[in-house]
Amino acid sequence: MHVGVLAIQGDFEKHIRSLQSLDSPPQTSEVRTVEDLAAIDRLIIPGGESTTVGLLLKRYGLGDAIQARAKDGMPIWGTCMGMIMLAKQVEGREQFSLSLLDITVKRNAFGAQVHSFEAPVEVKGLDEPVLGVFIRAPIVTSLGDEVETLATYQDKVVAVKQGSILGTSFHPELTADTRLHEWFVRI
Ligand code: GLN
Repeated sequence: MHVGVLAIQGDFEKHIRSLQSLDSPPQTSEVRTVEDLAAIDRLIIPGGESTTVGLLLKRYGLGDAIQARAKDGMPIWGTCMGMIMLAKQVEGREQFSLSLLDITVKRNAFGAQVHSFEAPVEVKGLDEPVLGVFIRAPIVTSLGDEVETLATYQDKVVAVKQGSILGTSFHPELTADTRLHEWFVRI
Protein backbone atom coordinates (compact mmCIF):
# COMPACT_ATOMS: atom_id res chain seq x y z
CA MET A 1 0.00 0.00 0.00
CA HIS A 2 1.41 3.34 -1.09
CA VAL A 3 -0.40 6.54 -0.08
CA GLY A 4 0.54 9.82 -1.73
CA VAL A 5 -0.21 13.28 -0.37
CA LEU A 6 -0.56 16.16 -2.81
CA ALA A 7 2.32 18.43 -1.84
CA ILE A 8 1.91 21.54 -4.00
CA GLN A 9 0.92 23.70 -1.04
CA GLY A 10 -0.73 23.29 2.37
CA ASP A 11 -0.36 21.00 5.38
CA PHE A 12 0.76 17.85 3.52
CA GLU A 13 3.52 17.01 6.03
CA LYS A 14 0.92 16.61 8.78
CA HIS A 15 -0.92 13.97 6.74
CA ILE A 16 2.32 12.10 6.11
CA ARG A 17 3.01 12.12 9.84
CA SER A 18 -0.48 10.78 10.60
CA LEU A 19 -0.05 7.99 8.02
CA GLN A 20 3.35 7.07 9.42
CA SER A 21 1.92 6.76 12.92
CA LEU A 22 -0.64 4.11 11.94
CA ASP A 23 -0.28 0.61 13.43
CA SER A 24 0.84 -0.79 10.10
CA PRO A 25 1.99 2.33 8.26
CA PRO A 26 1.69 2.37 4.47
CA GLN A 27 4.48 3.60 2.26
CA THR A 28 4.03 7.38 1.88
CA SER A 29 5.20 9.99 -0.57
CA GLU A 30 4.73 13.61 -1.57
CA VAL A 31 2.98 14.05 -4.91
CA ARG A 32 3.93 16.99 -7.12
CA THR A 33 4.12 15.50 -10.60
CA VAL A 34 2.28 13.12 -12.89
CA GLU A 35 5.15 10.63 -12.32
CA ASP A 36 4.69 10.84 -8.54
CA LEU A 37 0.98 10.16 -9.01
CA ALA A 38 1.63 7.07 -11.11
CA ALA A 39 3.50 5.45 -8.19
CA ILE A 40 0.72 5.60 -5.60
CA ASP A 41 -2.43 3.59 -4.76
CA ARG A 42 -4.36 6.31 -2.95
CA LEU A 43 -4.20 10.08 -2.70
CA ILE A 44 -4.84 12.61 0.06
CA ILE A 45 -5.40 16.26 -0.88
CA PRO A 46 -4.58 18.33 2.22
CA GLY A 47 -5.80 21.66 3.58
CA GLY A 48 -4.40 24.81 2.05
CA GLU A 49 -5.51 27.45 -0.39
CA SER A 50 -7.83 26.15 -3.09
CA THR A 51 -7.39 29.02 -5.55
CA THR A 52 -3.61 28.55 -5.68
CA VAL A 53 -3.68 24.76 -5.80
CA GLY A 54 -6.40 24.79 -8.48
CA LEU A 55 -4.30 27.01 -10.73
CA LEU A 56 -1.22 24.84 -10.30
CA LEU A 57 -3.09 21.56 -10.83
CA LYS A 58 -4.36 22.92 -14.10
CA ARG A 59 -1.03 24.37 -15.21
CA TYR A 60 0.99 21.17 -14.63
CA GLY A 61 -1.60 18.73 -16.02
CA LEU A 62 -1.82 17.01 -12.66
CA GLY A 63 -5.55 17.73 -12.43
CA ASP A 64 -6.26 15.67 -15.56
CA ALA A 65 -4.05 12.86 -14.30
CA ILE A 66 -5.84 12.77 -10.92
CA GLN A 67 -9.22 12.63 -12.68
CA ALA A 68 -8.02 9.72 -14.82
CA ARG A 69 -6.78 7.78 -11.76
CA ALA A 70 -10.08 8.43 -9.96
CA LYS A 71 -11.95 7.00 -12.94
CA ASP A 72 -9.85 3.86 -12.59
CA GLY A 73 -10.98 3.60 -8.97
CA MET A 74 -8.12 5.14 -6.98
CA PRO A 75 -9.46 6.26 -3.57
CA ILE A 76 -8.99 9.98 -2.83
CA TRP A 77 -9.58 11.91 0.40
CA GLY A 78 -9.70 15.69 0.52
CA THR A 79 -9.52 17.60 3.81
CA CYS A 80 -10.82 21.18 3.84
CA MET A 81 -9.18 22.74 0.76
CA GLY A 82 -8.92 19.16 -0.54
CA MET A 83 -12.70 18.77 -0.35
CA ILE A 84 -13.11 22.07 -2.21
CA MET A 85 -10.80 20.75 -4.95
CA LEU A 86 -12.89 17.56 -5.25
CA ALA A 87 -16.25 19.36 -5.46
CA LYS A 88 -18.18 19.72 -8.68
CA GLN A 89 -19.15 23.28 -7.79
CA VAL A 90 -17.92 26.06 -5.56
CA GLU A 91 -20.57 28.59 -4.58
CA GLY A 92 -20.13 31.98 -6.14
CA ARG A 93 -16.76 31.18 -7.71
CA GLU A 94 -15.38 30.07 -11.01
CA GLN A 95 -12.33 28.13 -9.89
CA PHE A 96 -10.67 24.97 -11.13
CA SER A 97 -11.89 21.85 -9.41
CA LEU A 98 -11.54 18.14 -10.01
CA SER A 99 -15.33 17.53 -10.08
CA LEU A 100 -15.01 14.11 -8.47
CA LEU A 101 -17.61 14.64 -5.74
CA ASP A 102 -21.12 15.56 -6.85
CA ILE A 103 -21.44 18.34 -4.29
CA THR A 104 -21.57 22.12 -4.07
CA VAL A 105 -19.36 23.63 -1.39
CA LYS A 106 -19.34 27.03 0.21
CA ARG A 107 -15.89 28.26 1.15
CA ASN A 108 -15.12 29.89 4.51
CA ALA A 109 -18.63 28.98 5.54
CA PHE A 110 -18.48 29.50 9.28
CA GLY A 111 -18.52 33.29 9.12
CA ALA A 112 -16.02 36.08 8.92
CA GLN A 113 -15.38 36.29 12.64
CA VAL A 114 -14.92 32.71 13.66
CA HIS A 115 -12.28 31.51 11.24
CA SER A 116 -11.13 28.58 13.33
CA PHE A 117 -12.60 26.41 16.04
CA GLU A 118 -12.60 22.87 17.35
CA ALA A 119 -15.66 20.77 18.11
CA PRO A 120 -16.51 17.10 18.50
CA VAL A 121 -18.02 15.63 15.33
CA GLU A 122 -19.76 12.30 15.04
CA VAL A 123 -18.68 10.46 11.91
CA LYS A 124 -20.72 7.57 10.52
CA GLY A 125 -18.91 4.30 11.14
CA LEU A 126 -16.82 5.53 14.09
CA ASP A 127 -17.90 4.67 17.65
CA GLU A 128 -16.61 7.83 19.29
CA PRO A 129 -16.69 11.39 17.84
CA VAL A 130 -13.56 12.88 16.31
CA LEU A 131 -12.25 16.30 17.30
CA GLY A 132 -13.10 18.41 14.27
CA VAL A 133 -10.53 21.13 13.65
CA PHE A 134 -12.19 23.71 11.40
CA ILE A 135 -9.93 26.33 9.81
CA ARG A 136 -11.75 28.71 7.48
CA ALA A 137 -13.66 25.58 6.67
CA PRO A 138 -16.05 24.91 3.81
CA ILE A 139 -19.45 23.22 4.14
CA VAL A 140 -21.37 21.11 1.65
CA THR A 141 -24.51 23.01 0.60
CA SER A 142 -25.94 20.49 -1.84
CA LEU A 143 -25.20 16.90 -2.73
CA GLY A 144 -26.16 14.52 -5.53
CA ASP A 145 -28.02 11.23 -5.08
CA GLU A 146 -24.84 9.16 -5.07
CA VAL A 147 -23.23 11.12 -2.27
CA GLU A 148 -23.50 9.87 1.29
CA THR A 149 -23.37 12.25 4.26
CA LEU A 150 -20.85 10.99 6.83
CA ALA A 151 -21.02 13.86 9.30
CA THR A 152 -22.86 17.06 10.11
CA TYR A 153 -21.99 19.86 12.50
CA GLN A 154 -24.76 22.24 13.57
CA ASP A 155 -26.92 20.78 10.79
CA LYS A 156 -24.28 21.56 8.18
CA VAL A 157 -22.79 18.73 6.12
CA VAL A 158 -19.06 18.49 6.90
CA ALA A 159 -18.08 15.02 5.65
CA VAL A 160 -19.19 13.09 2.57
CA LYS A 161 -18.36 10.00 0.56
CA GLN A 162 -19.12 9.07 -3.03
CA GLY A 163 -17.77 5.64 -3.98
CA SER A 164 -14.14 5.76 -2.88
CA ILE A 165 -13.90 9.56 -2.87
CA LEU A 166 -14.04 11.14 0.57
CA GLY A 167 -14.28 14.77 1.66
CA THR A 168 -14.06 16.32 5.14
CA SER A 169 -14.38 20.03 6.03
CA PHE A 170 -12.14 19.55 9.03
CA HIS A 171 -8.52 18.47 9.56
CA PRO A 172 -7.96 15.07 11.28
CA GLU A 173 -4.26 15.40 10.39
CA LEU A 174 -3.97 18.18 12.98
CA THR A 175 -4.98 15.87 15.82
CA ALA A 176 -3.37 12.74 17.26
CA ASP A 177 -6.48 10.75 16.30
CA THR A 178 -5.64 8.57 13.32
CA ARG A 179 -8.94 6.70 12.98
CA LEU A 180 -9.93 8.41 9.73
CA HIS A 181 -6.48 7.81 8.21
CA GLU A 182 -6.77 4.17 9.31
CA TRP A 183 -10.16 3.95 7.65
CA PHE A 184 -9.01 5.64 4.43
CA VAL A 185 -6.10 3.26 4.07
CA ARG A 186 -8.53 0.35 4.30
CA ILE A 187 -11.24 1.60 1.86
N1 GLN B 1 -10.44 28.58 2.99
C1 GLN B 1 -9.53 27.76 2.24
C2 GLN B 1 -9.92 27.72 0.78
O1 GLN B 1 -10.98 28.15 0.43
C3 GLN B 1 -9.50 26.36 2.81
C4 GLN B 1 -8.92 26.40 4.20
C5 GLN B 1 -8.25 25.14 4.64
O2 GLN B 1 -7.91 24.24 3.86
N2 GLN B 1 -7.99 25.07 5.92
O3 GLN B 1 -9.13 27.28 -0.03
